[in-house]
Amino acid sequence: MNAPAAKPVAASSPHVMNTYARVPIALSHGQGCRVWDINGKEYLDALAGIAVNTLGHNHPKLVPALQEQVARLIHTSNYYHVPLQETLAKKLVELSGMKNVFFCNTGLEANEAVLKLARKYGHDKGIANPQVVVYERAFHGRSIATLSATGNEKIQKGFGPLVPGFIRVPLNDIEALKKATAHNPDVVAVFFETIQGEGGINPMRGDYLRAVRALCTERDWLLCIDEVQCGMGRTGKWFAHQWAGIVPDVVALAKGLGSGVPIGAVVAGPKAADIFQPGNHGTTFGGNPLAMRAGVETLRIMEEDGLLQRAEQMGRYLGERLHAALDSHPGVKEIRAQGLMIGVELAKPCGVLIGRAAEVGLLISVTADSVIRLLPPLIITQAEIDELLARLLPLVRDFLAEA
Ligand SMILES: *Cc1c(COP(=O)(O)O)cnc(C)c1O
Repeated sequence: MNAPAAKPVAASSPHVMNTYARVPIALSHGQGCRVWDINGKEYLDALAGIAVNTLGHNHPKLVPALQEQVARLIHTSNYYHVPLQETLAKKLVELSGMKNVFFCNTGLEANEAVLKLARKYGHDKGIANPQVVVYERAFHGRSIATLSATGNEKIQKGFGPLVPGFIRVPLNDIEALKKATAHNPDVVAVFFETIQGEGGINPMRGDYLRAVRALCTERDWLLCIDEVQCGMGRTGKWFAHQWAGIVPDVVALAKGLGSGVPIGAVVAGPKAADIFQPGNHGTTFGGNPLAMRAGVETLRIMEEDGLLQRAEQMGRYLGERLHAALDSHPGVKEIRAQGLMIGVELAKPCGVLIGRAAEVGLLISVTADSVIRLLPPLIITQAEIDELLARLLPLVRDFLAEA
């Protein structure tokens, strides 16, 4: 039936609202770290659906479990107990050293809940106008509150008035944080990404994280961390802040937690665990059996298959190779890598590389205009990394050689 020289099928979606500048390909199926488009062209996936597909595609342990769950129960509502919520919450509590969990569906929703927790924490203490410290270049989502917390005017433009109650500070500068909050009794929380994702793969330093932890304890503020992108094993520990040896009061999770099934979670320590009471917060889909099963199985498979260790080892290998290939290049400003969360900052905007990489069979992203971002599935092998580099490096060199 196949026509011998079939014309490639064009990717288009005229009835879908035009909210994304899309690469002109449409994907059909995947296996491991590879995906194929509707014309049969193969791509190596170094994006993983933006740090979502932890286990790659069509994982042999995940798929049968989800099939079984779909046939059993997809959704029930939070009118009733959902036993899988307790299973996943208990596991997240063990892995984080914290106390309890609220489940939702996305990253921004987790962050909304964090902001509500922080505000109510203040109100419960008699603070009528609670203020939350947020950071330059942060990204927390695109709802009105989370875009107000985001440190990017492009994302905020056109959507004012912004939600008030935020104090913005630079990264890794404890004196600036102290100065911005001096004599301000309304501060209730500090909120940041351990490694900024959309902002360009910008890490908070360990000494800074420990200093902020100490300050939050001293001032009775909640230390709230958005690990939506850098969490769930991507850096080689369950949570990126664990590299600094700190335990926060609140952590937001989403992307990698469900291997592609929409899921979000807010993990709370003792200071924040009892702030929400019945009626304060909720969501229809949050914690539904399908999403919970996806989370439970993702964590189980990650442990069984040693994926934290793999993320660390493969991330180190990929980082070393990038350094060796690009460090001496004048067009490369900096390479920032922690596990499989990697940014290569170039000296000029490089969004055009997304399409060029797709042409040579590689899925990548570019953030903050000039940072090539690599977020491959945590199952990636050394051979696949070699392939990734073989496809990426010539593109980068050619691009930098252009006037
Ligand atoms: C992606 C992301 C979000 C938003 O998550 P959505 O699921 O797109 O709402 C929030 N914070 C960080 C750090 C992210 O990377």
